[in-house]
Amino acid sequence: MTEPDLFEVVNPATEEVITTVELAGPAETDAAVARARAAFDTWRRVAPADRARLLRAFAAAVDADREHLAALEVANAGHTIGNARWEAGNARDVIEYYAAAPERLFGRQIPVAGGLDVTFQEPIGVVGVIVPWNFPMPIAAWALAPALAAGNTVIVKPAELTPLTALRLAELALAAGIPEGVLQVLPGRGPVVGQRFVTHPDVRKVVFTGSTRVGKEIMAGCAAQVKPVTLELGGKSANIVFADADLAKAAATAPYAVFDNAGQDCCARSRILVEASVFDDFMALLEPAVRGVRVGDPSDEKTEMGPLISAAHRERVSSYVPDTSAVAFRGSAPDGPGFWYPPTVLAPVRHDDRAFTEEIFGPVVAVVPFRDEQDALRIANATEYGLSGSIWTRDLGRALRVSRGVEAGNLSVNSHSSVRYTTPFGGFKQSGLGRELGPDALDAFTQTKNVFISTEE
Ligand code: NAD
Repeated sequence: MTEPDLFEVVNPATEEVITTVELAGPAETDAAVARARAAFDTWRRVAPADRARLLRAFAAAVDADREHLAALEVANAGHTIGNARWEAGNARDVIEYYAAAPERLFGRQIPVAGGLDVTFQEPIGVVGVIVPWNFPMPIAAWALAPALAAGNTVIVKPAELTPLTALRLAELALAAGIPEGVLQVLPGRGPVVGQRFVTHPDVRKVVFTGSTRVGKEIMAGCAAQVKPVTLELGGKSANIVFADADLAKAAATAPYAVFDNAGQDCCARSRILVEASVFDDFMALLEPAVRGVRVGDPSDEKTEMGPLISAAHRERVSSYVPDTSAVAFRGSAPDGPGFWYPPTVLAPVRHDDRAFTEEIFGPVVAVVPFRDEQDALRIANATEYGLSGSIWTRDLGRALRVSRGVEAGNLSVNSHSSVRYTTPFGGFKQSGLGRELGPDALDAFTQTKNVFISTEE
Protein backbone atom coordinates (compact mmCIF):
# COMPACT_ATOMS: atom_id res chain seq x y z
CA MET A 1 0.00 0.00 0.00
CA THR A 2 1.29 3.45 -0.88
CA GLU A 3 0.76 6.34 1.52
CA PRO A 4 -2.35 8.44 0.73
CA ASP A 5 -1.54 11.82 -0.87
CA LEU A 6 -3.23 14.22 1.56
CA PHE A 7 -3.69 17.88 0.64
CA GLU A 8 -4.42 20.58 3.20
CA VAL A 9 -7.09 22.96 1.95
CA VAL A 10 -6.40 26.48 3.24
CA ASN A 11 -8.65 29.51 3.72
CA PRO A 12 -6.71 32.26 1.88
CA ALA A 13 -8.23 35.03 4.01
CA THR A 14 -7.06 33.51 7.30
CA GLU A 15 -4.33 31.02 6.30
CA GLU A 16 -6.13 28.40 8.44
CA VAL A 17 -6.44 24.80 7.27
CA ILE A 18 -10.13 24.10 6.58
CA THR A 19 -9.92 20.41 5.82
CA THR A 20 -7.75 17.74 4.29
CA VAL A 21 -8.58 16.15 0.94
CA GLU A 22 -7.12 12.92 -0.37
CA LEU A 23 -5.71 13.30 -3.86
CA ALA A 24 -6.22 10.50 -6.34
CA GLY A 25 -3.27 8.62 -7.78
CA PRO A 26 -2.92 6.85 -11.13
CA ALA A 27 -4.81 3.71 -10.00
CA GLU A 28 -7.79 5.70 -8.67
CA THR A 29 -7.86 7.71 -11.89
CA ASP A 30 -7.96 4.59 -14.04
CA ALA A 31 -10.72 3.16 -11.84
CA ALA A 32 -12.75 6.38 -12.25
CA VAL A 33 -12.29 6.24 -16.02
CA ALA A 34 -13.49 2.62 -16.04
CA ARG A 35 -16.62 3.62 -14.06
CA ALA A 36 -17.27 6.53 -16.41
CA ARG A 37 -16.77 4.30 -19.45
CA ALA A 38 -19.27 1.76 -18.09
CA ALA A 39 -21.78 4.47 -17.18
CA PHE A 40 -21.52 5.95 -20.69
CA ASP A 41 -23.16 2.88 -22.21
CA THR A 42 -26.32 3.43 -20.17
CA TRP A 43 -26.33 7.26 -19.84
CA ARG A 44 -26.22 7.79 -23.59
CA ARG A 45 -29.32 5.61 -23.92
CA VAL A 46 -31.38 7.39 -21.26
CA ALA A 47 -34.40 8.85 -23.07
CA PRO A 48 -33.88 12.54 -23.88
CA ALA A 49 -36.82 13.66 -21.72
CA ASP A 50 -35.50 11.64 -18.76
CA ARG A 51 -31.97 13.02 -19.15
CA ALA A 52 -33.50 16.50 -19.24
CA ARG A 53 -35.54 15.78 -16.10
CA LEU A 54 -32.47 14.52 -14.23
CA LEU A 55 -30.51 17.64 -15.19
CA ARG A 56 -33.37 19.87 -14.06
CA ALA A 57 -33.42 17.99 -10.74
CA PHE A 58 -29.65 18.55 -10.48
CA ALA A 59 -30.14 22.30 -11.13
CA ALA A 60 -32.84 22.40 -8.45
CA ALA A 61 -30.52 20.67 -5.98
CA VAL A 62 -27.81 23.27 -6.71
CA ASP A 63 -30.38 26.01 -6.27
CA ALA A 64 -31.44 24.68 -2.87
CA ASP A 65 -27.79 24.44 -1.80
CA ARG A 66 -26.67 27.88 -3.07
CA GLU A 67 -25.94 29.44 0.32
CA HIS A 68 -23.91 26.42 1.38
CA LEU A 69 -21.99 26.31 -1.91
CA ALA A 70 -21.31 30.05 -1.65
CA ALA A 71 -20.04 29.71 1.93
CA LEU A 72 -17.72 26.89 0.85
CA GLU A 73 -16.25 29.11 -1.90
CA VAL A 74 -15.79 32.05 0.46
CA ALA A 75 -13.81 29.78 2.77
CA ASN A 76 -11.88 27.84 0.13
CA ALA A 77 -11.12 30.51 -2.49
CA GLY A 78 -11.53 33.79 -0.58
CA HIS A 79 -14.26 34.93 -2.97
CA THR A 80 -16.49 37.69 -1.69
CA ILE A 81 -19.85 36.39 -0.53
CA GLY A 82 -21.56 38.45 -3.25
CA ASN A 83 -19.44 36.86 -5.97
CA ALA A 84 -19.74 33.38 -4.50
CA ARG A 85 -23.53 33.61 -4.49
CA TRP A 86 -23.45 34.70 -8.13
CA GLU A 87 -21.16 31.76 -8.96
CA ALA A 88 -23.46 29.20 -7.31
CA GLY A 89 -26.41 30.75 -9.15
CA ASN A 90 -24.44 30.62 -12.38
CA ALA A 91 -23.74 26.89 -11.90
CA ARG A 92 -27.49 26.35 -11.40
CA ASP A 93 -28.38 28.43 -14.46
CA VAL A 94 -25.90 26.65 -16.71
CA ILE A 95 -27.17 23.21 -15.68
CA GLU A 96 -30.78 24.34 -16.15
CA TYR A 97 -30.00 25.91 -19.55
CA TYR A 98 -28.42 22.69 -20.88
CA ALA A 99 -31.25 20.60 -19.39
CA ALA A 100 -33.19 21.82 -22.42
CA ALA A 101 -30.59 20.36 -24.79
CA PRO A 102 -31.23 16.59 -24.75
CA GLU A 103 -34.63 17.13 -26.36
CA ARG A 104 -33.27 19.63 -28.87
CA LEU A 105 -30.11 17.96 -30.19
CA PHE A 106 -31.48 18.02 -33.68
CA GLY A 107 -29.80 16.32 -36.58
CA ARG A 108 -30.53 17.18 -40.22
CA GLN A 109 -32.25 15.49 -43.08
CA ILE A 110 -30.28 16.14 -46.26
CA PRO A 111 -31.71 15.67 -49.76
CA VAL A 112 -29.92 12.83 -51.59
CA ALA A 113 -30.71 10.49 -54.44
CA GLY A 114 -31.90 6.93 -53.76
CA GLY A 115 -32.77 7.20 -50.12
CA LEU A 116 -32.95 9.15 -46.91
CA ASP A 117 -29.92 10.86 -45.40
CA VAL A 118 -29.98 11.90 -41.74
CA THR A 119 -27.42 13.11 -39.25
CA PHE A 120 -27.19 12.36 -35.53
CA GLN A 121 -25.38 14.41 -32.87
CA GLU A 122 -23.64 11.58 -31.03
CA PRO A 123 -21.94 11.94 -27.64
CA ILE A 124 -18.17 11.52 -27.62
CA GLY A 125 -17.69 9.30 -24.54
CA VAL A 126 -15.86 9.99 -21.30
CA VAL A 127 -14.96 13.69 -20.95
CA GLY A 128 -12.13 14.76 -18.62
CA VAL A 129 -12.54 18.29 -17.28
CA ILE A 130 -9.52 20.07 -15.74
CA VAL A 131 -10.49 23.13 -13.68
CA PRO A 132 -8.33 25.98 -12.30
CA TRP A 133 -8.66 27.55 -8.85
CA ASN A 134 -9.95 30.97 -9.85
CA PHE A 135 -13.63 30.14 -10.56
CA PRO A 136 -14.06 26.57 -9.36
CA MET A 137 -17.85 26.37 -9.62
CA PRO A 138 -18.70 28.14 -12.88
CA ILE A 139 -15.81 26.62 -14.84
CA ALA A 140 -16.74 23.09 -13.74
CA ALA A 141 -20.41 23.72 -14.58
CA TRP A 142 -19.70 25.23 -18.03
CA ALA A 143 -18.16 21.93 -19.11
CA LEU A 144 -20.09 19.30 -17.19
CA ALA A 145 -23.58 20.63 -18.01
CA PRO A 146 -23.42 20.55 -21.83
CA ALA A 147 -21.28 17.38 -21.74
CA LEU A 148 -23.85 15.49 -19.65
CA ALA A 149 -26.76 16.91 -21.63
CA ALA A 150 -25.25 15.55 -24.85
CA GLY A 151 -24.98 12.06 -23.33
CA ASN A 152 -21.32 11.98 -22.29
CA THR A 153 -20.06 10.96 -18.87
CA VAL A 154 -17.75 13.34 -17.03
CA ILE A 155 -14.82 13.29 -14.62
CA VAL A 156 -13.95 16.69 -13.16
CA LYS A 157 -10.50 17.28 -11.72
CA PRO A 158 -10.65 20.42 -9.61
CA ALA A 159 -7.54 22.47 -8.91
CA GLU A 160 -5.52 21.15 -5.98
CA LEU A 161 -6.18 24.36 -4.00
CA THR A 162 -9.98 24.50 -4.48
CA PRO A 163 -11.73 21.11 -4.55
CA LEU A 164 -14.59 21.75 -2.12
CA THR A 165 -17.40 23.14 -4.27
CA ALA A 166 -16.76 20.64 -7.06
CA LEU A 167 -16.99 17.78 -4.55
CA ARG A 168 -20.26 19.22 -3.31
CA LEU A 169 -21.64 19.47 -6.87
CA ALA A 170 -20.96 15.75 -7.35
CA GLU A 171 -22.90 14.95 -4.15
CA LEU A 172 -25.80 17.10 -5.32
CA ALA A 173 -25.86 15.36 -8.71
CA LEU A 174 -26.10 11.95 -7.04
CA ALA A 175 -28.81 13.16 -4.66
CA ALA A 176 -30.75 14.49 -7.67
CA GLY A 177 -30.77 11.03 -9.22
CA ILE A 178 -27.95 11.29 -11.78
CA PRO A 179 -26.68 7.68 -11.86
CA GLU A 180 -23.37 6.62 -10.25
CA GLY A 181 -20.39 7.07 -12.55
CA VAL A 182 -22.06 9.65 -14.81
CA LEU A 183 -20.49 12.62 -13.03
CA GLN A 184 -17.42 12.05 -10.87
CA VAL A 185 -15.21 14.61 -9.16
CA LEU A 186 -11.67 13.43 -8.60
CA PRO A 187 -9.36 15.75 -6.65
CA GLY A 188 -5.79 15.23 -7.75
CA ARG A 189 -2.61 16.76 -9.01
CA GLY A 190 -2.46 18.15 -12.53
CA PRO A 191 0.51 16.10 -13.68
CA VAL A 192 -1.11 12.91 -12.26
CA VAL A 193 -4.91 12.96 -12.75
CA GLY A 194 -5.01 15.71 -15.38
CA GLN A 195 -2.21 14.11 -17.36
CA ARG A 196 -3.98 10.72 -17.23
CA PHE A 197 -7.02 12.30 -18.91
CA VAL A 198 -4.67 13.15 -21.76
CA THR A 199 -3.07 9.71 -22.06
CA HIS A 200 -5.96 7.36 -21.15
CA PRO A 201 -7.49 5.99 -24.36
CA ASP A 202 -10.98 5.78 -22.82
CA VAL A 203 -11.07 9.52 -22.10
CA ARG A 204 -12.26 10.74 -25.48
CA LYS A 205 -12.27 14.50 -24.89
CA VAL A 206 -10.42 16.91 -22.60
CA VAL A 207 -11.66 20.31 -21.48
CA PHE A 208 -8.91 22.37 -19.92
CA THR A 209 -9.10 25.79 -18.30
CA GLY A 210 -5.90 27.21 -16.92
CA SER A 211 -2.57 28.63 -17.95
CA THR A 212 -1.52 28.86 -21.59
CA ARG A 213 1.66 26.93 -20.76
CA VAL A 214 -0.16 23.84 -19.47
CA GLY A 215 -2.85 24.20 -22.14
CA LYS A 216 -0.24 23.83 -24.88
CA GLU A 217 1.13 20.67 -23.23
CA ILE A 218 -2.39 19.21 -23.02
CA MET A 219 -3.07 19.97 -26.67
CA ALA A 220 0.23 18.41 -27.74
CA GLY A 221 -0.44 15.34 -25.59
CA CYS A 222 -3.97 14.90 -26.95
CA ALA A 223 -2.60 14.91 -30.50
CA ALA A 224 -1.16 11.42 -29.90
CA GLN A 225 -4.71 10.00 -29.83
CA VAL A 226 -6.32 12.69 -32.00
CA LYS A 227 -8.32 13.56 -28.89
CA PRO A 228 -10.38 16.73 -29.19
CA VAL A 229 -9.69 19.52 -26.69
CA THR A 230 -11.44 22.65 -25.57
CA LEU A 231 -8.97 25.16 -24.12
CA GLU A 232 -9.78 28.25 -22.08
CA LEU A 233 -6.47 29.92 -21.32
CA GLY A 234 -5.06 33.24 -20.18
CA GLY A 235 -5.71 36.82 -21.15
CA LYS A 236 -4.33 40.35 -21.13
CA SER A 237 -7.45 42.19 -22.09
CA ALA A 238 -7.73 45.85 -23.01
CA ASN A 239 -10.23 48.35 -21.68
CA ILE A 240 -10.21 51.07 -24.38
CA VAL A 241 -11.54 54.46 -23.35
CA PHE A 242 -12.16 57.07 -26.07
CA ALA A 243 -12.36 60.80 -25.36
CA ASP A 244 -16.07 60.93 -26.25
CA ALA A 245 -17.00 58.27 -23.67
CA ASP A 246 -18.89 58.77 -20.43
CA LEU A 247 -15.56 59.21 -18.64
CA ALA A 248 -17.05 59.23 -15.15
CA LYS A 249 -18.73 55.86 -15.75
CA ALA A 250 -15.71 54.40 -17.51
CA ALA A 251 -13.45 55.40 -14.60
CA ALA A 252 -15.90 54.32 -11.90
CA THR A 253 -16.28 50.83 -13.40
CA ALA A 254 -12.68 50.21 -14.56
CA PRO A 255 -11.44 49.02 -11.13
CA TYR A 256 -14.10 46.30 -10.95
CA ALA A 257 -13.25 45.14 -14.48
CA VAL A 258 -9.77 44.20 -13.28
CA PHE A 259 -9.84 43.90 -9.48
CA ASP A 260 -12.93 41.69 -9.27
CA ASN A 261 -11.92 38.31 -7.77
CA ALA A 262 -8.66 40.09 -6.84
CA GLY A 263 -7.72 40.17 -10.52
CA GLN A 264 -7.67 36.36 -10.68
CA ASP A 265 -9.90 36.42 -13.72
CA CYS A 266 -8.87 35.41 -17.22
CA CYS A 267 -11.10 38.23 -18.53
CA ALA A 268 -9.55 40.91 -16.29
CA ARG A 269 -9.16 44.17 -18.22
CA SER A 270 -5.59 44.52 -16.99
CA ARG A 271 -4.56 47.09 -19.60
CA ILE A 272 -6.45 50.37 -19.69
CA LEU A 273 -5.89 52.30 -22.93
CA VAL A 274 -7.02 55.93 -22.70
CA GLU A 275 -7.17 58.50 -25.52
CA ALA A 276 -4.31 60.90 -24.83
CA SER A 277 -6.47 64.05 -24.82
CA VAL A 278 -8.40 62.82 -21.75
CA PHE A 279 -5.65 60.78 -20.06
CA ASP A 280 -5.16 63.15 -17.10
CA ASP A 281 -8.92 63.63 -16.61
CA PHE A 282 -9.40 59.86 -16.61
CA MET A 283 -6.61 59.28 -14.09
CA ALA A 284 -8.09 61.93 -11.80
CA LEU A 285 -11.42 60.08 -11.88
CA LEU A 286 -9.82 56.63 -11.57
CA GLU A 287 -7.88 57.42 -8.39
CA PRO A 288 -10.86 57.81 -6.00
CA ALA A 289 -12.54 54.79 -7.63
CA VAL A 290 -9.49 52.61 -6.93
CA ARG A 291 -9.02 53.93 -3.40
CA GLY A 292 -12.73 53.23 -2.80
CA VAL A 293 -12.55 49.50 -3.57
CA ARG A 294 -13.44 47.75 -0.31
CA VAL A 295 -10.82 45.06 0.31
CA GLY A 296 -11.20 42.76 3.30
CA ASP A 297 -13.05 39.88 4.93
CA PRO A 298 -14.75 38.11 2.02
CA SER A 299 -17.66 36.94 4.17
CA ASP A 300 -18.62 40.59 4.88
CA GLU A 301 -21.49 41.54 2.53
CA LYS A 302 -19.90 44.95 1.84
CA THR A 303 -16.53 43.59 0.76
CA GLU A 304 -15.68 44.01 -2.93
CA MET A 305 -12.30 42.28 -3.10
CA GLY A 306 -10.82 39.41 -1.10
CA PRO A 307 -7.33 37.93 -0.86
CA LEU A 308 -5.21 36.18 -3.47
CA ILE A 309 -5.42 32.40 -3.53
CA SER A 310 -2.05 31.55 -1.95
CA ALA A 311 1.25 32.86 -0.62
CA ALA A 312 3.04 31.56 -3.73
CA HIS A 313 0.62 33.39 -6.00
CA ARG A 314 1.08 36.62 -4.03
CA GLU A 315 4.84 36.29 -4.56
CA ARG A 316 4.25 35.93 -8.28
CA VAL A 317 1.93 38.95 -8.44
CA SER A 318 4.38 41.05 -6.38
CA SER A 319 7.17 40.24 -8.83
CA TYR A 320 5.37 42.39 -11.43
CA VAL A 321 5.57 45.43 -9.16
CA PRO A 322 9.23 45.77 -8.08
CA ASP A 323 10.27 48.82 -6.08
CA THR A 324 11.30 50.54 -9.32
CA SER A 325 7.72 50.38 -10.72
CA ALA A 326 5.83 53.59 -11.38
CA VAL A 327 2.85 53.09 -9.07
CA ALA A 328 0.40 55.89 -9.83
CA PHE A 329 -1.83 55.02 -6.87
CA ARG A 330 -3.00 52.12 -4.78
CA GLY A 331 -5.99 50.97 -2.82
CA SER A 332 -5.83 49.36 0.58
CA ALA A 333 -5.47 45.82 1.91
CA PRO A 334 -5.76 44.38 5.43
CA ASP A 335 -2.69 43.59 7.56
CA GLY A 336 -2.24 40.30 9.34
CA PRO A 337 -2.95 36.78 8.14
CA GLY A 338 -4.31 36.22 4.64
CA PHE A 339 -2.76 36.54 1.20
CA TRP A 340 -3.66 40.21 0.68
CA TYR A 341 -2.50 42.48 -2.09
CA PRO A 342 -3.80 46.02 -2.64
CA PRO A 343 -5.40 47.18 -5.91
CA THR A 344 -2.48 48.73 -7.77
CA VAL A 345 -2.38 51.10 -10.76
CA LEU A 346 0.80 51.38 -12.81
CA ALA A 347 1.43 54.49 -14.94
CA PRO A 348 3.41 55.41 -16.88
CA VAL A 349 4.32 51.95 -18.21
CA ARG A 350 6.50 51.00 -21.17
CA HIS A 351 4.78 48.78 -23.74
CA ASP A 352 7.54 46.19 -23.32
CA ASP A 353 7.32 46.10 -19.51
CA ARG A 354 6.35 42.56 -18.45
CA ALA A 355 3.61 44.10 -16.30
CA PHE A 356 2.10 45.30 -19.61
CA THR A 357 2.73 42.17 -21.68
CA GLU A 358 2.23 39.22 -19.29
CA GLU A 359 -0.86 38.00 -17.52
CA ILE A 360 -0.42 38.97 -13.85
CA PHE A 361 -3.62 37.34 -12.57
CA GLY A 362 -3.72 39.73 -9.63
CA PRO A 363 -5.07 43.21 -8.79
CA VAL A 364 -2.57 45.16 -10.90
CA VAL A 365 -3.56 47.31 -13.87
CA ALA A 366 -1.41 49.32 -16.27
CA VAL A 367 -2.75 52.50 -17.90
CA VAL A 368 -1.30 53.87 -21.17
CA PRO A 369 -2.36 56.65 -23.54
CA PHE A 370 -3.17 56.21 -27.25
CA ARG A 371 -3.38 58.73 -30.10
CA ASP A 372 -6.33 57.60 -32.22
CA GLU A 373 -8.47 54.59 -33.17
CA GLN A 374 -5.72 52.89 -35.19
CA ASP A 375 -3.20 53.37 -32.39
CA ALA A 376 -5.69 51.92 -29.86
CA LEU A 377 -6.20 48.81 -32.00
CA ARG A 378 -2.46 48.41 -32.56
CA ILE A 379 -1.77 48.47 -28.80
CA ALA A 380 -4.79 46.32 -27.91
CA ASN A 381 -3.78 43.63 -30.44
CA ALA A 382 -0.04 43.63 -29.62
CA THR A 383 -0.41 40.49 -27.49
CA GLU A 384 -0.60 36.75 -28.06
CA TYR A 385 -3.76 36.71 -25.94
CA GLY A 386 -7.28 37.48 -27.18
CA LEU A 387 -9.91 36.69 -24.60
CA SER A 388 -12.01 39.75 -23.82
CA GLY A 389 -12.04 43.54 -23.73
CA SER A 390 -14.15 46.67 -23.35
CA ILE A 391 -14.71 49.70 -25.55
CA TRP A 392 -15.99 52.99 -24.16
CA THR A 393 -17.33 55.49 -26.69
CA ARG A 394 -20.60 57.24 -27.54
CA ASP A 395 -19.94 56.87 -31.28
CA LEU A 396 -21.81 53.79 -32.48
CA GLY A 397 -19.82 53.47 -35.70
CA ARG A 398 -16.57 53.55 -33.78
CA ALA A 399 -17.89 51.07 -31.22
CA LEU A 400 -18.61 48.61 -34.03
CA ARG A 401 -15.37 49.26 -35.94
CA VAL A 402 -13.26 48.76 -32.83
CA SER A 403 -15.29 45.72 -31.72
CA ARG A 404 -14.59 44.14 -35.09
CA GLY A 405 -10.93 45.21 -34.94
CA VAL A 406 -9.99 43.89 -31.52
CA GLU A 407 -8.70 40.32 -31.83
CA ALA A 408 -10.60 38.81 -28.90
CA GLY A 409 -13.52 36.44 -28.37
CA ASN A 410 -15.66 38.45 -25.93
CA LEU A 411 -16.08 42.19 -26.12
CA SER A 412 -18.42 44.60 -24.42
CA VAL A 413 -19.23 48.18 -25.31
CA ASN A 414 -19.85 50.70 -22.52
CA SER A 415 -19.84 47.87 -19.99
CA HIS A 416 -17.53 45.12 -18.81
CA SER A 417 -19.62 42.02 -19.14
CA SER A 418 -17.94 38.89 -20.51
CA VAL A 419 -20.05 36.04 -19.38
CA ARG A 420 -23.69 35.19 -19.95
CA TYR A 421 -24.63 31.54 -19.89
CA THR A 422 -26.73 32.01 -23.03
CA THR A 423 -23.91 33.44 -25.18
CA PRO A 424 -20.66 31.89 -26.42
CA PHE A 425 -17.44 32.41 -24.46
CA GLY A 426 -13.87 31.67 -25.52
CA GLY A 427 -10.59 33.05 -26.74
CA PHE A 428 -8.85 34.11 -29.94
CA LYS A 429 -5.15 33.46 -30.53
CA GLN A 430 -3.41 31.85 -27.52
CA SER A 431 -6.35 32.50 -25.19
CA GLY A 432 -8.05 29.32 -26.23
CA LEU A 433 -9.71 26.95 -28.61
CA GLY A 434 -13.42 26.24 -28.88
CA ARG A 435 -16.38 27.93 -27.26
CA GLU A 436 -18.17 27.32 -23.99
CA LEU A 437 -21.69 28.40 -22.97
CA GLY A 438 -24.59 29.38 -25.19
CA PRO A 439 -25.72 27.23 -28.10
CA ASP A 440 -22.13 26.71 -29.35
CA ALA A 441 -20.95 24.60 -26.40
CA LEU A 442 -22.91 21.52 -27.49
CA ASP A 443 -20.73 21.27 -30.62
CA ALA A 444 -17.76 20.61 -28.35
CA PHE A 445 -19.43 17.56 -26.79
CA THR A 446 -21.01 15.92 -29.82
CA GLN A 447 -19.82 14.46 -33.08
CA THR A 448 -21.89 14.34 -36.21
CA LYS A 449 -22.83 10.94 -37.59
CA ASN A 450 -24.25 10.67 -41.09
CA VAL A 451 -26.55 7.76 -41.97
CA PHE A 452 -27.84 6.97 -45.45
CA ILE A 453 -30.86 4.66 -45.76
CA SER A 454 -31.47 3.27 -49.20
CA THR A 455 -35.02 3.29 -50.54
CA GLU A 456 -34.11 1.13 -53.54
CA GLU A 457 -36.37 -1.88 -53.95
P1 NAD B 1 -2.67 25.85 -14.23
O1 NAD B 1 -2.57 25.77 -15.70
O2 NAD B 1 -1.44 25.68 -13.44
O3 NAD B 1 -3.68 24.76 -13.65
C1 NAD B 1 -4.97 24.61 -14.15
C2 NAD B 1 -5.42 23.19 -13.93
O4 NAD B 1 -4.56 22.32 -14.67
C3 NAD B 1 -5.32 22.70 -12.47
O5 NAD B 1 -6.40 21.84 -12.19
C4 NAD B 1 -4.01 21.93 -12.47
O6 NAD B 1 -3.99 20.92 -11.49
C5 NAD B 1 -4.01 21.32 -13.84
N1 NAD B 1 -2.69 20.96 -14.36
C6 NAD B 1 -1.50 21.53 -14.05
N2 NAD B 1 -0.50 20.91 -14.72
C7 NAD B 1 -1.08 19.93 -15.47
C8 NAD B 1 -0.57 18.97 -16.39
N3 NAD B 1 0.71 18.86 -16.67
N4 NAD B 1 -1.46 18.13 -16.99
C9 NAD B 1 -2.78 18.23 -16.75
N5 NAD B 1 -3.31 19.12 -15.88
C10 NAD B 1 -2.47 19.98 -15.26
O7 NAD B 1 -3.39 27.23 -13.97
P2 NAD B 1 -3.88 27.83 -12.58
O8 NAD B 1 -2.71 28.46 -11.93
O9 NAD B 1 -4.63 26.84 -11.82
O10 NAD B 1 -4.91 28.94 -13.10
C11 NAD B 1 -4.54 30.20 -13.54
C12 NAD B 1 -4.53 30.29 -15.05
O11 NAD B 1 -5.76 29.85 -15.62
C13 NAD B 1 -4.38 31.70 -15.56
O12 NAD B 1 -3.39 31.75 -16.55
C14 NAD B 1 -5.74 32.05 -16.16
O13 NAD B 1 -5.78 33.00 -17.14
C15 NAD B 1 -6.22 30.77 -16.63
N6 NAD B 1 -7.69 30.76 -16.70
C16 NAD B 1 -8.31 30.89 -17.90
C17 NAD B 1 -9.69 30.91 -17.98
C18 NAD B 1 -10.42 31.00 -19.27
O14 NAD B 1 -11.61 30.73 -19.30
N7 NAD B 1 -9.81 31.36 -20.36
C19 NAD B 1 -10.44 30.79 -16.83
C20 NAD B 1 -9.79 30.66 -15.64
C21 NAD B 1 -8.41 30.64 -15.58
